[in-house]
Amino acid sequence: MHFDSNLNLISEKSISIIGYGNQGRAQALNLRDNGLNVIIGNIRDEYWERAERDGFKVYPIGDAVKLSEVTLMLIPDEVAPQVFKEEVEGNLRHGHVLCFASGYNVAFGYIKPPTYVDVVLVAPRMIGEGVRSLFLEGKGFPVLIGVHQDYSGRALDHALAIAKGIGSLNPGGVAIESSFWEEAVTDLFGEQVVGGGMLHLIRAAFEVMIEFGINPMVAILELYASGELIELAKAIYKYGLWDQLNLHSSTSQYGQQTRGPKIISEVVKATLRSVMEDIVSGKFAEEWMLEQRTAKKNFEKIWRENLSHEIVKVEKELYKLLRRLIQ
Ligand code: NDP
Repeated sequence: MHFDSNLNLISEKSISIIGYGNQGRAQALNLRDNGLNVIIGNIRDEYWERAERDGFKVYPIGDAVKLSEVTLMLIPDEVAPQVFKEEVEGNLRHGHVLCFASGYNVAFGYIKPPTYVDVVLVAPRMIGEGVRSLFLEGKGFPVLIGVHQDYSGRALDHALAIAKGIGSLNPGGVAIESSFWEEAVTDLFGEQVVGGGMLHLIRAAFEVMIEFGINPMVAILELYASGELIELAKAIYKYGLWDQLNLHSSTSQYGQQTRGPKIISEVVKATLRSVMEDIVSGKFAEEWMLEQRTAKKNFEKIWRENLSHEIVKVEKELYKLLRRLIQ
């Protein structure tokens, strides 16, 4: 774990940020506020204009890479391989530092950088908005850092300098040594199991509640719309997974600890293993790549099916009554 590093290694270098979205804007602003020399590479559209309004010099992607010695690839993972091949790769110079915020494309072989560059990972465990707002409060945030290729012999120091430059090592932050593979696998597993699992658990619970005659709106309020789920997540974040249970009544503590293991049985655990196997074997990445090649037809069908479920209809009615934002 690293709580500090030295900015000197990149302070004289020109840093190109490719993509001015969630992470791109936040990281570019933080690096500049830390006194570093930042330019932006983007397609000419509203993100380009936003970067200009923020006072940056903006270039077509290839030109930005050519004009820099350090490049942070901050575009969505699904478009990065093509952009890398067409606009980045040919403009990298010997000794260039190529930095990713996600391990996905390098870990699964969709981006194969040339041998003459440092390839490092600086992956914030924080959304872009948090990267900027914590920085403005003088606070840091966790990042995973890693080295895929150490051309200069100082790749890890480069990753640490970038981590410091984007503000992650301010008080409260830390850089944890990881790898492109570990970051990609944990990120996918976390979102598929905790995110995907939770969405489907909530929906299955809704279906069972309806079967037992519970008013669908009451079910949705109980399951997530009251905001109790937010408080639960915050309490886990603040006090830890089990210590937060002390905030609940004894009845709730007993119910959670006796019924929870019945739901997450050994059968479910075996399914978790198969989800993990699909990720580590690259099967999931291949499936997703195929999906994109077929214009995301199956993905769109899944979306349509999910949006046609009863829970969505009832939720819309409820949110209208509660005057929440609905599409
Ligand atoms: P965004 O979706 O916010 O990125 C948008 C940027 O990518 C815009 O500048 C957009 O430009 C550009 N872009 C989109 N499509 C293309 C294209 N085909 N060609 C060129 N540029 C394109 O991405 P994020 O900031 O969310 O993610 C960036 C990286 O950070 C990813 O690797 C992600 O995994 C990682 N990351 C993201 C986190 C998050 O909280 N979002 C957290 C940690 C890591 P335009 O629209 O002008 O084309």
